Amino acid sequence: MERLNPRSVLVTGSNRGIGLEMIKQLAEKSNPPQWIFATCRDPEGPRTQDLRTLAAQHQEIVIIPLNITDPSSIKSAVTMVTERLNGTGLNLLINNAGIASHDSKVESQAPEAMAEVYKTNVIGPMMISQAFLPLLRKASRDSPKKGMSCSKASIVNMSSYAGSITEVYLWNYGQVVPYRCSKAALNMLTRCQSLSFRDDEILCVTLHPGWVLTDMGGNMAQMTASSSVAAILNLLADLSEKETGTFLNWEGKVLPW
Ligand code: NDP
Repeated sequence: MERLNPRSVLVTGSNRGIGLEMIKQLAEKSNPPQWIFATCRDPEGPRTQDLRTLAAQHQEIVIIPLNITDPSSIKSAVTMVTERLNGTGLNLLINNAGIASHDSKVESQAPEAMAEVYKTNVIGPMMISQAFLPLLRKASRDSPKKGMSCSKASIVNMSSYAGSITEVYLWNYGQVVPYRCSKAALNMLTRCQSLSFRDDEILCVTLHPGWVLTDMGGNMAQMTASSSVAAILNLLADLSEKETGTFLNWEGKVLPW
């Protein structure tokens, strides 16, 4: 994990679950990033207490309000991050925030739920990536490093194996059609981003973190957030242009679309 050495990282949905664990493990590295932008939609709220406690122990952590579906919130977050970075770029953007959908059958799926999940899981990461693109480009341009890496300039989209059209992972556990469709779309978005930003040397990947014990993963999940995130941060350290535009699991295994 020490081989991952971005100067700045931004994580969406970092007040609980996988996002919070990412902030914790990044801050506890022996060589932490200089700036860890821990973004969440309600910095003062009760569900952000653990993040506030963590931030009080690590000066690198800056809590930034950010609702990924709200353009004005995104705009203010970009302004705050740009001010802190003080002329430098953003190396690593982790689009982690997401919502699940209540289980329902395909034949009776409510269109409103489909739209809401799509808005958060696809349009949100798209808008966030667009908004932070100038800072990612700056990080890439200003880096002396050759090629692509997550320490230089990268967009990491937190997807799910549930979005694999080939595998339709855990179908018998839950159909969750809006969630599956949204993650399949997020995978395509990642592929498009990787092609669009190739010349900028911005690495783009879509990751399945495992079935993880969080509010979303539920208590039947197989992995702790701690072990999932440790594996993901190790993986990020190894990624290069060979992996841009791919769909990987937490261990770096290539997953079928
Ligand atoms: P949690 O439900 O535990 O946490 C979700 C996070 O996303 C919360 O911080 C939540 O904030 C935030 N969030 C939701 N909507 C928004 C929004 N509009 N703006 C900003 N933040 C928002 O989920 P996990 O930690 O388990 O999941 C993290 C990611 O990993 C998700 O993208 C998920 O799809 C993916 N994933 C998880 C798996 C698992 O088994 N846990 C499996 C496969 C993929 P708030 O507290 O304000 O609601």
